[in-house]
Amino acid sequence: MIFNPEKYNIADEPERPFIDPQEIIRILDRTRSDKVRIREIIAKSLAKNRLSLFETAALLNASDPQSIEEIKDGARRLKEEIYGNRIVLFAPLYVGNKCSNNCQYCGFRISNKSVQRSTLTREQLENEVKALEKDGQKRLILVFGEHPEYDPGFIAETVRTVYRIKTGKGEIRRVNINAAPLDIKGFRKVKEAGIGTYQIFQETYHPDAYRIYHPSGKKRNYDYRITALDRAQKAGLDDVGIGALFGLYNWKFEVMALVRHTNHLEACFNVGPHTISFPRLKEASSVLADKRYGVGDQDFARLVAILRLAVPYTGLILTARETAGIRSEVMKYGVSQIDGGTKIELGAYSGVPKKLQDLDKEQFRIHDERSLNEIIEELLSQDYLPSFCTACYRLKRTGEHFMEFSVPGFIKRYCTPNAMLTLAEYLEDYAPAATALKGWQIIECNMERLNGERNVNELRKRLDRIKKGERDIYY
Ligand code: SAM
Ligand code: SF4
Repeated sequence: MIFNPEKYNIADEPERPFIDPQEIIRILDRTRSDKVRIREIIAKSLAKNRLSLFETAALLNASDPQSIEEIKDGARRLKEEIYGNRIVLFAPLYVGNKCSNNCQYCGFRISNKSVQRSTLTREQLENEVKALEKDGQKRLILVFGEHPEYDPGFIAETVRTVYRIKTGKGEIRRVNINAAPLDIKGFRKVKEAGIGTYQIFQETYHPDAYRIYHPSGKKRNYDYRITALDRAQKAGLDDVGIGALFGLYNWKFEVMALVRHTNHLEACFNVGPHTISFPRLKEASSVLADKRYGVGDQDFARLVAILRLAVPYTGLILTARETAGIRSEVMKYGVSQIDGGTKIELGAYSGVPKKLQDLDKEQFRIHDERSLNEIIEELLSQDYLPSFCTACYRLKRTGEHFMEFSVPGFIKRYCTPNAMLTLAEYLEDYAPAATALKGWQIIECNMERLNGERNVNELRKRLDRIKKGERDIYY
């Protein structure tokens, strides 16, 4: 087959696997990068343009320390320009760990007989949500194994239950999902329950590697999984999240494939993924990972920076799989969302504290077990603006429509004020006195930075309304 770069301009045929691994490998092999080229590419990205596969490959192939530093620095600047200093916070809620797949890296896989299987009862679910609300959480991602019990009707009903539960001033305002791929009808049913993002990670985009890691079960079908979010779009679910599990295959290949997946969704549906996740493989019960493809900390920071530059407007999610130290370092290069106060053992938010090292109850080991408040404290001390904002999704600023808003000025008009308003709620309702003091100082600093913006006086009035007890005010 003749190598044909023009191929990437052709709109995709939907419903067919759209990754050609040989092409990605050829692009990676043939794209050279030098300092001048790297600077040109960073400049293109800083002008808020998405990068092509060739440009992404050039960044991935940069090997001299100076270029790598320039890439990280470019990512840091881009993050500041597009996302400001906001970090959106959420928590995962594990609903059920029954699973009929056999993913070799996952503690929930069917062949792992040591894991205790269960699904939260209605009462347990309610207790979990109440505990999360009492902590100050507003955004959840519900996580499910792949099992006939967790069909679209069950997922939709779980979502509705979560939205119904209110504790004092607490409520969950956005429920995202991480679960198995559905058919179009299934996605429609789940959308009707009012979900935010539907996340599905391809794990590895390399079909041969994929086959090795997924020897049986429905997930064995690479094509069905890779086309899942096309079906979501067809079902009208335009807010989707993609991801790769780093450590299964060559990390540069996976970054290229994530960009390719983004291009594909943009070409076919006029809207790219809302978020990209890049979990690194962690220890799990009875799992023997292939160390060959392990991604070291330096490369991890690099890959996040390259993703940031490649897809300037896509949210990047970094989870508690990583240590506090790594999270703090990698966040600088473009992360927009992190989880806080995370517990992944079923029932753990409301139940008994888990025994240390109890891998048999978890899907994998997490490495940042700090409370939500400890994480907020650290964010504030690093001049981040923690945010629980859910405004866009609730005002239907999603999908293609959302892209229209992703223009300069949008952040200052909507995102930063909404971050301040939701942080103010947290400080009033849940934070210890010391955090509240620090938080209000950060809000004041951010107000000063907004000086001259049209809506500053109005924002001050809204913050006062929150101090007086009003809730859920947003732009
Ligand atoms: N069961 C559904 C699926 O596989 O798509 C959804 C949830 S699964 C519980 C969420 C994600 O956890 C998987 O997509 C995978 O990327 C990640 N994961 C599984 N095992 C892991 C491990 N050992 N370390 C880090 N992440 C892991
Ligand atoms: Fe099941 Fe998902 Fe784990 Fe695979 S990654 S075994 S599908 S829970």
